[in-house]
Amino acid sequence: MNIAKNVERASLYFPQKAALIFEGRTISYEELNGRVNRLAKALRAMGVEKGDRIALFLPNIPAFPIVYLAVQKLGAIAVSINAMSKKREIKYIAGDSGCKIVFTTSELRGEVPREALPALEKIVVAEGEAGEDPDLETLTAPEDGDFACREMAPNDPAAILYTSGTTGFPKGATLTHGNVVSNSISAGNHSGVCPDDRMQLFLPLFHCFGQNYIMNSAFAKCATLVLHRRFEPEPVLGAIASHKVTMLFAVPTIFIHFLNMDTSRYDLSSLRYCFTAAATMPLETALQWKDKFGMPIHEGYGLTECSPFALYNHDFKLKYGSLGTPIENVDVRVVDYEGKEVPPGEQGAIVVRGPNVMRGYWGKPAETAKAIRDGWLHTGDIGKMDEEGYFFITDRLKDMIIAAGFNVYPNEVEQVLYQHPAVKEAAVYGVPDAVRGETVHAAIVLKKGMRADEEGIIDFCRANMAAYKTPRRILFMDELPKSPTGKILKRILRGDESS
Ligand code: AMP
Repeated sequence: MNIAKNVERASLYFPQKAALIFEGRTISYEELNGRVNRLAKALRAMGVEKGDRIALFLPNIPAFPIVYLAVQKLGAIAVSINAMSKKREIKYIAGDSGCKIVFTTSELRGEVPREALPALEKIVVAEGEAGEDPDLETLTAPEDGDFACREMAPNDPAAILYTSGTTGFPKGATLTHGNVVSNSISAGNHSGVCPDDRMQLFLPLFHCFGQNYIMNSAFAKCATLVLHRRFEPEPVLGAIASHKVTMLFAVPTIFIHFLNMDTSRYDLSSLRYCFTAAATMPLETALQWKDKFGMPIHEGYGLTECSPFALYNHDFKLKYGSLGTPIENVDVRVVDYEGKEVPPGEQGAIVVRGPNVMRGYWGKPAETAKAIRDGWLHTGDIGKMDEEGYFFITDRLKDMIIAAGFNVYPNEVEQVLYQHPAVKEAAVYGVPDAVRGETVHAAIVLKKGMRADEEGIIDFCRANMAAYKTPRRILFMDELPKSPTGKILKRILRGDESS
């Protein structure tokens, strides 16, 4: 097997179909496969071999899939680096994974600390002025000849993705060909991706959601990606109209953003499917979306360590407010502290087992053994399952607040805050308190033109929840701190940089 076979297959069946549409340019599957073949040859000539680590320090540009796929064809390992990373972070990731080559742009190149990376042999410039370094355009210039994918075993590493950093120090989740092939096919199957689909891709490709759920599932199903360098509301809505986008993949804050703007001047009639993951979708938002656009937002749950997809809500039976049921061939359970399954309705730790679970953290056997126990990946999320087998996330273990001995799940408080007519976005977090251990605070962004004060919000909460859950302080902000995938960075709100 090899992930890159998806593109060979698509190029055989649909050579002229657009694989990528990007900034006015269309790249057909035939052209994509050709460029990938040429780069694979060039990399082999540079001495890249099976198992070598190649870094992609790239924004969302066509070079990302080209480099990713060429690396796969050779049996090397694609290491994704967040395009917003700075020298210190790149030194850690490229050093930890021992990257031989870094692909980047002329704009980002200055952040790569060459001298501090002993394993680094070359920097290849994929966009902009290359100067002394080799450039991607030359390496992929037209020339005859195929390049057959190297046959890989299901357990051979394919990609290393450093986990998002909302929790703990970054670790390189190592995903295998088996992980990515099975998970991207499941994503395509559950979301119902067809060759005629045009999928919006503005979420970062360096993250599992963009890389596997969207990019690799599109290639697996021979669909078209409408690629955006970054998320910008107006161009994204404009692209739906001009490219007849059929599938929208986003995170809750983006759906909230669209709900709060006037979208009436865009023709969104081509859109047939919406999907969210990565962070809690407020029930209120999901219902408003259905009301306004006449289609539900389907939901997925997962994490980098399981490629990422594990639960889906739902192709056949959607249940609002739930994460859905386990995807094909994957088991999900809620367990207690001893790892025993708890009865439906009871809270516990969410664990996952299946072909999607990573091989481990790169070079960190002790951390891997902590995360995967008896074949079950411990997600760090708390949740419950109902009688029908639908899962619900209560919160992340780290985000749970213990206030005066009571467990407070920020997600539950946030769901109430979202019902307040003036609240656009809300994040609830715990801060240390000498008397209560921890106390509940909330950060809020108000809807445009709306007003509310701290007392009014606290009164609203008090009327809708037990006193111990009610926030004691409300912080009004213009914007909440977020990760590139739209996760609210509570550690910044809490002020604990180390967690
Ligand atoms: P990452 O590894 O960056 O993909 O982050 C994974 C984490 O995102 C999970 O452990 C969850 O805490 C959170 N997450 C993913 N999907 C959802 C979802 N549908 N609802 C709430 N949280 C989610």
